[in-house]
Amino acid sequence: MKKTLTFFLLLLFASGVFYSCQDKQDVDPYSIPSDVRNQLIRLGFDVVNHPPISFDDGYLVEGDIYLTPADLSSMGAGKRVPTVEQYSTNQLVTALPRTVTVYMPTTFSAANFSAVDEAIRRYNAENLLIKFSRVTSSTGVGIVFSRLTKSQERQGILGSSGFPTSSGDPYGVIKMSGVLESTYHLTVDGIATIMAHEMGHCIGFRHTDYYDRSISCGGATSNEGASTVGANLIPGTPSTATLAAQSWMLACTDGSNRYFNTADKTALTYLY
Ligand SMILES: [Zn+2]
Repeated sequence: MKKTLTFFLLLLFASGVFYSCQDKQDVDPYSIPSDVRNQLIRLGFDVVNHPPISFDDGYLVEGDIYLTPADLSSMGAGKRVPTVEQYSTNQLVTALPRTVTVYMPTTFSAANFSAVDEAIRRYNAENLLIKFSRVTSSTGVGIVFSRLTKSQERQGILGSSGFPTSSGDPYGVIKMSGVLESTYHLTVDGIATIMAHEMGHCIGFRHTDYYDRSISCGGATSNEGASTVGANLIPGTPSTATLAAQSWMLACTDGSNRYFNTADKTALTYLY
């Protein structure tokens, strides 16, 4: 609980920086066009508790999901309106069984290497049809780790990734903050949790609590209305997401270690 409170303070601090920046400049440098915002709402993304921002050549949505305009135009409506279970995207990784190679450049710290190996170990321990393997060359690799820009890190972004491609490949880039140890004092398990979370997006997981991010992020309950979404129910997952259950796909982290819980394992096994 103490850690959660600490992290909420961090979040508040981060948004304080963000909004004070707006005040000074009058124009929000990270704001997005209103038609994009409306499209995100139609796709069921929470634009209230965590406003999307401009990021690289597209938008960062729900804190860590990178979507380009092309991604947005290819995302269709889901099979049901969101309620409360775990959800996946329409597009999943295909050509199973399959091993996804992962590359981390040597510029990352030893703790980050330990963390990515731990994240991979967690997935592989579930005996899924998708496996991960870390390789030491970036040639032809499935997922490449890189570092966020310092400007992105200053906005409080911890990591980013995206959803599987229309051709059934995992999303290929995970960007990580380089200050998880120095600023946030995260352990290897805490960093591994964030990496496993970003890998979860890469293979099609949406946030466990995306229907109400206040569960993990605090703040106001988001009411998205009756939008149809690019999100599909994963059968067998519980009817309520709770912070106590500590799903690895909760939208906001408190920096703690979130191993796969029982419902997470059900979801992983169902998809893969
Ligand atoms: Zn996420």
